[in-house]
Amino acid sequence: MSHPEFLKLAVPGVRGLTPYVPGKPIEELERELGLSNSIKLASNENPLGPPASALAAIRASASDVALYPDGSAYQLRSALAEALSLRPEAITLGNGSCDVLVMLAETFLAPGVEAVFSQYAFVLYALVTQAAGATARVAPARPRSDSQPLGHDLSAMRSLVGPATRLVFIANPNNPTGSWLTASELRDFVSSLPQEVIVVVDEAYCEYVEDTDYPDCSRWLAELPNLVVTRTFSKIHALAGLRVGYALSHPALAELLNRVRQPFNVSLPAQRAALASLRDRNHVTRSREVNRAGLRQLAEGLDRLGLTTFPSRGNFLLVACGDQAGHYYEQLLRAGIIVRPVANYGLQDCLRITVGLPEQNEQLLASLSDIMSR
Ligand SMILES: *Cc1c(COP(=O)(O)O)cnc(C)c1O
Repeated sequence: MSHPEFLKLAVPGVRGLTPYVPGKPIEELERELGLSNSIKLASNENPLGPPASALAAIRASASDVALYPDGSAYQLRSALAEALSLRPEAITLGNGSCDVLVMLAETFLAPGVEAVFSQYAFVLYALVTQAAGATARVAPARPRSDSQPLGHDLSAMRSLVGPATRLVFIANPNNPTGSWLTASELRDFVSSLPQEVIVVVDEAYCEYVEDTDYPDCSRWLAELPNLVVTRTFSKIHALAGLRVGYALSHPALAELLNRVRQPFNVSLPAQRAALASLRDRNHVTRSREVNRAGLRQLAEGLDRLGLTTFPSRGNFLLVACGDQAGHYYEQLLRAGIIVRPVANYGLQDCLRITVGLPEQNEQLLASLSDIMSR
């Protein structure tokens, strides 16, 4: 069979699919440009790294990796349940929260049904919807002049919900825009939906948000059975390389997700490290502080360079660079700094920069200043 024939064999959703583009790995950059000591501010990783307790758990788990992990992740789910005052039956673990988003799509989406999300929402929603062969209904984002520039417009999203809608995806805060929604806005939105429409609130960055009107949607689960909250150990918990995330939902919905979940989807070292990291509240607090200071440092520095940044509650900043985004990206690579182009989001004029350690932020600002003055 000649190569192009395979395309026809793929299911319709996959035929039109464009793969996820991750941030450039440091190894790849250094291999390509012969650099060393590069820094990556491209994938919203925690620059402090994991807590020592998680590293110790990973090392200690090495001697047990001949064994399958506990497929039900009893210890980690129990600890999460206790921390969140939920029943373990409400928790579905994923190989990263992306895995949970895939399970949601596999469970509820198919050709003929629809998922609603916002323009500039986290790209995975479009990907899993398309892979399932379902139809994406994309609501226009709030304008750049809005108080939440490029953020989710909940009334525009609401107007796209119809009889074929199965899932609504909301990222709070959203990546790559950094925009966020308040408790009252979000609560009104979820309450306005028919019970048979499932709302997925992706809280990958929730631990970074300090505003008092920012909702912890896990508290609403008892009253809103059509709500699913997803979270991750990849961001503030600094375990992106291990892949652990989870969904919080009505136990009956969790039971459905567990039907499609791969039996051993979270590895043994990942379960143990996540457990250790969950218990280390100091590390979370410290990470939040480093991020708060870093966000300010970057926003002020970029502002001094005459660049427009958008308000962010994540550990990253979206910055508008006019027609220079591609040029800055390339030149920063040459200076050993990886940031994230977001042209795949239709934001050709922007770059997304992850908050690093103070000296990394400084290095980014100095290099950019250099590039801009050349
Ligand atoms: C990073 C991110 C995730 C988490 O991905 P993992 O699979 O848990 O590593 C989920 N949602 C958003 C919006 C993100 O930015």
